[in-house]
Amino acid sequence: MTADNILLTTSVGSFGKPDYLQKARNQHARGKLGAAELVELERKATLEWIRTQEEIGLDILVDGEMYRGDMVAHFAELLDGYSEGGLVRAYGNRYYHKPVISGKLARPKPMTVEWFQYAQSLTDKPVKGMLTGPYTMLDWSYNEAYPTRREAALALAEVVRQEAEDLDRAGARYIQIDEPAVHARPEELAIAIEAMGIVTQNLKAKTISHICYGDFAAIYPGVLDLPVDQLDLAMANYEYRWLDLMDRQPFTKEMAIGIVDVHTHELESVAEAADGIRRGLKYVSADKLLPHPDCGLKTRPVEESIAKCRIVVEATKVVRAELAKNAVPA
Ligand SMILES: [Zn+2]
Repeated sequence: MTADNILLTTSVGSFGKPDYLQKARNQHARGKLGAAELVELERKATLEWIRTQEEIGLDILVDGEMYRGDMVAHFAELLDGYSEGGLVRAYGNRYYHKPVISGKLARPKPMTVEWFQYAQSLTDKPVKGMLTGPYTMLDWSYNEAYPTRREAALALAEVVRQEAEDLDRAGARYIQIDEPAVHARPEELAIAIEAMGIVTQNLKAKTISHICYGDFAAIYPGVLDLPVDQLDLAMANYEYRWLDLMDRQPFTKEMAIGIVDVHTHELESVAEAADGIRRGLKYVSADKLLPHPDCGLKTRPVEESIAKCRIVVEATKVVRAELAKNAVPA
């Protein structure tokens, strides 16, 4: 273990969209701004977020998902076999069109590769490739085309695999395949595992899956069989109680550990966040533990996204210094 590969800091994927982009997206939705003009502003915002992450001092960057709205609907719009469904309530007053799998799924062309290449061209630091996993795609869609949920999940896995392999060929060192719905139906965990195996089978990149709000205890330790190198977990919002599960069944992967809550405007203190890292170090060694915010920051204003990420970096510096002095047992 060397000092430069311990406690690498990162983020989950999405950041707040700047006001000019939010406005442009609304104008585009009303037919008042062309697609090319919108893409130009998405690229500008991506560049700004890359520079901001470098300035904050994060180690593994993301493109910030300036081009995405919802993490499932975005891909559903780009895939063959999907059609738009009716409005359903997500939470609170937020509604979205739940997409419908209405025909044979296929990927007409790469969906994220150009964004990855653009973001990676802006920085020497690694940028993660970012996809939504097949089980979450299934769970957040209606399935009207495949006889069983398993068959739909495996068909989705095939199109996500094609995208992941294109990112791999494009040089992504990290590919994150998010499965926030993996604990929605614990009895279907085996389907999520089988589908992820199709996606990751041929990848050279380090693979990651983000799992966030829900009953993690219901899928632990079974989720350790999800075929990815790293699980990316919300912990701060749960006051780190999921770590207790690892007293009984050791954690066997790399862990990206959420040390700031993204559901509150309040900012954690650096000391509090550093304590979160120390808790994680009881279960995962420093070369396999990656501090980051609990979840994507797209619901937070830009300034709050930045402030939360700064706390992650500052807290990590504190613990790195302790480790260098051997003050924390590794
Ligand atoms: Zn999340």
